[in-house]
Amino acid sequence: MNTFLLEIVTPDRSAYSSEVNGVSVRGIEGDLGILPGHIPFITPLQVAPVRIKIGNEYTSIAVSGGFVEVRKDKVVILAESAEIETDIDIERAVAAKERAERRIVAVKSNQADIDFKRAELSLKKAMNRIEVHSKR
Ligand code: ATP
Repeated sequence: MNTFLLEIVTPDRSAYSSEVNGVSVRGIEGDLGILPGHIPFITPLQVAPVRIKIGNEYTSIAVSGGFVEVRKDKVVILAESAEIETDIDIERAVAAKERAERRIVAVKSNQADIDFKRAELSLKKAMNRIEVHSKR
């Protein structure tokens, strides 16, 4: 079969490890489809779903703060956090999204001295988890 090993690793665990047929990721410069035999490279990733293809099945993983390394023998994604679609706590993600939105509104109207970039990143992470959860 035409596959390669994909590993997704976070600081505390191995979030995913399997032979796959392909993976698509959103790099800082745009979407990338990685198939067996891809030339080696490294690029930082956006906060976005990583989509994995095995046979005719697709799996999504919510990845934040990471980069992808395509090696000759395998593909490794190193990330701050990574959750497979079935592991996402949707209520937690929705609460995080609402909290981030409230912070952004507060920052914009100068009612609170909260870091806008931090709130924006929290919002991105929560929206990514909600999107991945909806694909399960
Ligand atoms: P929250 O504000 O809900 O804590 P967060 O974006 O601050 O969310 P992170 O710092 O990105 O959370 O992640 C901390 C840990 O919690 C990581 O191990 C991550 O995988 C996990 N995690 C965060 N949100 C969820 C979620 N909605 N479902 C499952 N795991 C989650």
